[in-house]
Amino acid sequence: MKNLWTPWRMSYILGREGRETGCIFEAGAGQRHDRPALLLYRDEAVAVLLNRFPYANGHLLVAPTRHVAELTELTTVEEQALMRMLRQAVAILRKHLRPAGFNVGLNLGAAAGAGLADHLHFHVVPRWEEDHNFMTVLAEIRTIPEHIEQTFDRLLPDFQILFNSRPSPAGD
Ligand SMILES: [Zn+2]
Repeated sequence: MKNLWTPWRMSYILGREGRETGCIFEAGAGQRHDRPALLLYRDEAVAVLLNRFPYANGHLLVAPTRHVAELTELTTVEEQALMRMLRQAVAILRKHLRPAGFNVGLNLGAAAGAGLADHLHFHVVPRWEEDHNFMTVLAEIRTIPEHIEQTFDRLLPDFQILFNSRPSPAGD
């Protein structure tokens, strides 16, 4: 527990990791959240982005903070943090957007459709009944960046609460 690896702090110290890889999950130079990058949450283990090219309003990407491509590369701490964050992200989206359901999934490798194949990430996509009027509204929203920032501002406070109440590493 005392040796919990903190790549998030390390990249903050080095201040270069994100720039070198050009990876969207490492944008924001080690910040906990970053509006221009649509980064809602980042701690030592896990990061959450609002997808800039969403399938639906509130489409989130949940990734390990560390730049890894394969499930087998995840540490136990990262596995647990990812699953916990998926549960919490679904709860936050449910509260704010009231979808009828969710698609939660993982594309491993470019052949499987992963657009950012070298940094593992889960998609969390809120879904509404197709015949629901609200869906039409959201279909309009998805092409308008201003609305993505509005969604960001709406979701951010709940992710900040998560950050402040996250399980703290021993000795912290
Ligand atoms: Zn990365």
